[in-house]
Amino acid sequence: DIRIDKIRKEFGDFPALHDVSLNIRSGELIALLGPSGSGKTTLLRLVAGLEFPSQGRILFGEEDASWKSVQERNVGFVFQHYALFKHMTVFDNVAFGLRVRGSENRPPKAEIRRRVEELIDMVQLSGMESRYPGQLSGGQRQRVALARAMAIEPRVLLLDEPFGALDAKVRKDLRKWLREFHDRTGHTTLFVTHDQEEALELADRVVVMSQGKIEQVGSADDIYDRPQSAFVFSFVGDSA
Ligand code: ATP
Repeated sequence: DIRIDKIRKEFGDFPALHDVSLNIRSGELIALLGPSGSGKTTLLRLVAGLEFPSQGRILFGEEDASWKSVQERNVGFVFQHYALFKHMTVFDNVAFGLRVRGSENRPPKAEIRRRVEELIDMVQLSGMESRYPGQLSGGQRQRVALARAMAIEPRVLLLDEPFGALDAKVRKDLRKWLREFHDRTGHTTLFVTHDQEEALELADRVVVMSQGKIEQVGSADDIYDRPQSAFVFSFVGDSA
């Protein structure tokens, strides 16, 4: 489990997050939902180890990971602006995280090949191993990014607006695909979205954020039927 314990994060004297606590159970698919500027990406970056808390702690199991690096945490992430390597094939993109490991942690070549092929198969891109990102659709590229994030067998998958830049149809397909993929692999996954439909349809639990705070955590039914604040009521009410 991952425990976010009373986190505060300031940029200068601006508090981007205040008093944020959340327990993430192993295997859960969680959506961070909220309007622009509510602190979703900041929270994801803190879990990733790309930012460090001003106050509070992040525990991975029993271990205090608050000050550990991305590598030490062994997290996998797909950020909107963290694109694929354009000059590398699909295969090499997925293999990247394994190949850059220090020699003591790097699996042998044959093992890397086996693992990468299995992942490419899992994201249903078999046969496209030697293509370059420029020769793929947006949805296919996102799936390569997911396979790349998973290659290191991360403790948690962190996805920042994974379908953000895609058109409505591709978005819908990929959403369905991610749900099935999660059901099959059971990876603990935290994803950011500002799309209430996406969060409510996809996630086991939804974390609604506003102005650097968690407004409510619950299942889609809880959020829809039992909103605990005027903010949640009006935010999900917009789409209902
Ligand atoms: P969006 O949906 O637009 O991505 P968000 O909910 O992910 O928004 P964050 O990116 O977490 O929001 O930002 C939360 C607040 O913190 C914003 O007001 C933002 O301007 C501020 N902020 C984020 N990163 C920094 C930074 N590096 N320096 C200063 N302020 C920052």
